[in-house]
Amino acid sequence: MNTLTARSTDVVIVGAGPTGLFLASELAAQGVAVTVIERSVEPDRLPRANGIVGDAVRLLDERGIYHELAGHDRSLRGTLQRLGTGNLGRHPRPARSFSYAGLRLPLHRVRDANPVFVLPVPQRTLELILERRAVEHGVAVRRGCELRSFAQADSGVTAEVTTPAGVEQYSAAYLVGCDGAHSMVRKSAGIDLPGVTLDGAVARIAHMTIPRGELTPFGALHRPDGPALKPFHPHRLARGVFTFGSFGSGLTTVSTLEWGATAPDDDVPLTIDEMRESVGRVVGRPVDLRPPHGPGPHQLRRTGGRNARVAATFRAGRVLLAGDAAHLFTGYGAPSLNAGLLDAADLAHRLGAAVQSVVGDELLDAYDTVRRDQALRTVEHSAAQERLLAPGDEATARREEFAARLADRKFLAALADELAGRATG
Ligand SMILES: Cc1cc2nc3c(=O)[nH]c(=O)nc-3n(C[C@H](O)[C@H](O)[C@H](O)COP(=O)(O)OP(=O)(O)OC[C@H]3O[C@@H](n4cnc5c(N)ncnc54)[C@H](O)[C@@H]3O)c2cc1C
Repeated sequence: MNTLTARSTDVVIVGAGPTGLFLASELAAQGVAVTVIERSVEPDRLPRANGIVGDAVRLLDERGIYHELAGHDRSLRGTLQRLGTGNLGRHPRPARSFSYAGLRLPLHRVRDANPVFVLPVPQRTLELILERRAVEHGVAVRRGCELRSFAQADSGVTAEVTTPAGVEQYSAAYLVGCDGAHSMVRKSAGIDLPGVTLDGAVARIAHMTIPRGELTPFGALHRPDGPALKPFHPHRLARGVFTFGSFGSGLTTVSTLEWGATAPDDDVPLTIDEMRESVGRVVGRPVDLRPPHGPGPHQLRRTGGRNARVAATFRAGRVLLAGDAAHLFTGYGAPSLNAGLLDAADLAHRLGAAVQSVVGDELLDAYDTVRRDQALRTVEHSAAQERLLAPGDEATARREEFAARLADRKFLAALADELAGRATG
């Protein structure tokens, strides 16, 4: 029979993804005792996010880690320059332009009011650096351990965790679910995740090699009818949306969103051949895509339904949610990491004060109000981009109208705020 070891801490964080790790170090920096429980023995090697867009980049700079994140790979220099963010200086500079539903936003025109900072960084690198920082601040990161159940009372929370050595029971003042999209914390706390799942389109993403002969001297992909397709930009074409770009690692990420398509069953894995065929259909000609170089693991992922959902509350008593556990976005403009890191920063100062008993419940309730409101707006903004990217003449007319409005600096500044993850009405 497993032994039960009793432990105590101020805050238990479930999940050592970017949100949980950043929250942990923000709390520990205030003198709060934090334990992070993480099922995986190491940060995921399977590639996920390629970058952060928005206010979180400035936040990372304020914490002194932007330079390390931006400089981890010298080949990212070219990527940053293409995105118009200037060179790899010590501090981030706002992007001179950015894509919105595949339309180019001339952000340089809003000058000082431009908060669109872009940091291309692989998610694993981000996690490794955030974890090292959390440990330096005194956080106990317990890898290979899984939250099994928890219960809360007026005075605190108890959590049962399975570890390689047996079961441990944690007593803590608060428990935060940073345990991702399928959050066990959210489900066990009885918190709903209302919203929509968009189907009727299939999204595919893969690492591929694009032979030089397929590209113009400036790195754009040749197309039979129409201008070549530039990298780092979603292209709305007759059958869907096509995006590609190299993010420093030497690997090229290629993605398609095909309208009117039906995804094979989830248990049928995406293959390189299926990806090549999808690109051919969307781009309108066969493209000689080759398997990626190097040992991998490489990205190869298909999604039938894309979620736009926000938890009904981010707080149930002494249990809180942050990051993907709290919200899921369809993805244009890469809002997810930005939102998770901003949740963590907002929650950390409230929770730090609550642990030290200098505030009552109102400050934690305000976390729910402020960050949930922002998440709902991000869902709206993603939906606005979806409508502009949709197929058909109506969407084309909407795009033309929208493009004409970009001459208005106020409108442009509001879009820049949206992209940065700032609440705008
Ligand atoms: C292919 C792909 C590309 C993406 N690209 C981008 C992008 O370019 N920009 C962007 O902003 N976002 C992107 N995203 C989204 C981004 O990866 C997520 O938003 C991000 O990982 C959320 O971070 P998180 O810390 O909230 O949750 P997660 O990273 O999901 O971390 C949750 C952690 O909790 C752990 N866990 C879960 N349950 C338990 C349990 N019971 N006990 C212990 N541990 C548990 C998991 O093992 C996991 O490590 C992408 C996602 C994918 C799949």
